[in-house]
Amino acid sequence: MSVPVSRRSVLRGAVLLGAAAGATTLAQVGGGNAHAAARVDQPVIANCATWGARPPSSAVSVVESRPNKIIVHHTAFPNSTDYSLAHAYANSRDIQNLHMDGNGWLDSGQHFTNSRGGQLTEGRHGSLYALLHGQTMVQGAHCVGQNSQAIGIENDGIYLDVQPPQALWNSLIVFCAFTCQQYGIPASQIYGHKDFASTQCPGLLHDRLPELRSAVAALIQ
Ligand SMILES: [Zn+2]
Repeated sequence: MSVPVSRRSVLRGAVLLGAAAGATTLAQVGGGNAHAAARVDQPVIANCATWGARPPSSAVSVVESRPNKIIVHHTAFPNSTDYSLAHAYANSRDIQNLHMDGNGWLDSGQHFTNSRGGQLTEGRHGSLYALLHGQTMVQGAHCVGQNSQAIGIENDGIYLDVQPPQALWNSLIVFCAFTCQQYGIPASQIYGHKDFASTQCPGLLHDRLPELRSAVAALIQ
């Protein structure tokens, strides 16, 4: 999926040239790689150290293969109107505490978290490293039967009868596009928790999965 920077630079230069000449089209210049300019840049994702995660209670397992899908969740925490980065970090700590102390898990169950202000954080330790390298994933604990093949993204809040803030939605699109790109996951392989379990999660976000897939596909093509 990745295209060398030099190739992209050449393409951009050629496109500018074509525009100046008023004749050459993007399709003619770029050929089959005309979409390379739409490549998704890495969004800011705060790692565990940045938001003050506790160490895992035991070693995180690494799955030596790429995930084949993304599963969208909501946390079911109250819908806060604090959209600050500090709140996003505090929310990540709250989730980790709940998962470790309440559920008895070794660390956060999800791989990543998206706040109502649209800030992204790493969930389970090692998830960000794996994502940036694009070849492995850490074993999660967010969806029974899918934890060694699906990246789990928790969206802060509960969306059974209200829509998420636009900032959360926009951030979810970018996160999914980047993750699909890094792992070679088709945009069609973005699901909701309720597709695999008896749950209402992720609420209205599930109704919007077709919209999400389309937006992601447009970014990664
Ligand atoms: Zn869920």
